[in-house]
Amino acid sequence: MTTTPIPIAAHNPSAMTGPGNHTYLVAGRDGSAALIDAGVGHSQHLTELADRLSAERCELRHVLVTHGHADHASGAPALASRHPAAMFSKFPWPREDERYEVAWRALADGDTVSVGDEVLTALHTPGHSPDHLAFWIERTRTIFTGDLVIPGRSVMIHTSAGGNLTQYFASLERLLALDALVLLPAHGPRIDTPAQVLNGHLEHRRMRERQVLDALRAGRATVEAIAESIYDGLDPALVPAARENVRAHLEKLKTDGVAVTDESGRWRL
Ligand SMILES: [Zn+2]
Repeated sequence: MTTTPIPIAAHNPSAMTGPGNHTYLVAGRDGSAALIDAGVGHSQHLTELADRLSAERCELRHVLVTHGHADHASGAPALASRHPAAMFSKFPWPREDERYEVAWRALADGDTVSVGDEVLTALHTPGHSPDHLAFWIERTRTIFTGDLVIPGRSVMIHTSAGGNLTQYFASLERLLALDALVLLPAHGPRIDTPAQVLNGHLEHRRMRERQVLDALRAGRATVEAIAESIYDGLDPALVPAARENVRAHLEKLKTDGVAVTDESGRWRL
């Protein structure tokens, strides 16, 4: 019986997911278990999960999905057919959730899910996506951070697909205030220095914001021109992501009342 969360690889390496996602199994003392994130339904993921459940003498009762992006949610139907006792829960994002045919149970901010005496609290932490939940275990001061934190990388904020940088800043601040001991991200290794990594992500964004402001001050008025000035010499394959990031910053500056855009889509301070 292991009470520390067990990482189980989703086996979905790609350009977007790097080496692939982690899902995490939380096994309770009463023979129930919860899986954080559903993976993509890869047969190796399903096999490793089944092996772990039998080693822990546990039945899968809960699948808690951090958000509706395919690398976190698309494995839900495959899990449902193998684990009929499992309930699938996430913060609702109707248009996205209906892509995966399971009976989603809605989780709201502050809702708790218990496996044995382990209690997981859902924290609505939008920004990367509108439906993003982190899961907090107060007993061990552990947070499953989904896609809010990626060690050594910048988290994508797709403003055109429900991402919001203003919310993302607030979500990082909220996690920081919990004073956690461990962060377990969906991508990348376990984090034992939460404050340092969360502050690093916040500082990285503030630095980008200063660069966007400098570019606006220099008269650069389009997403393309601003991205080019900041990410000079960038691999062409990464240009769309860089522009998406600039767009996220401009939208935040608009919300802050610092930047404005005209009908032709040109930006200025
Ligand atoms: Zn995501």
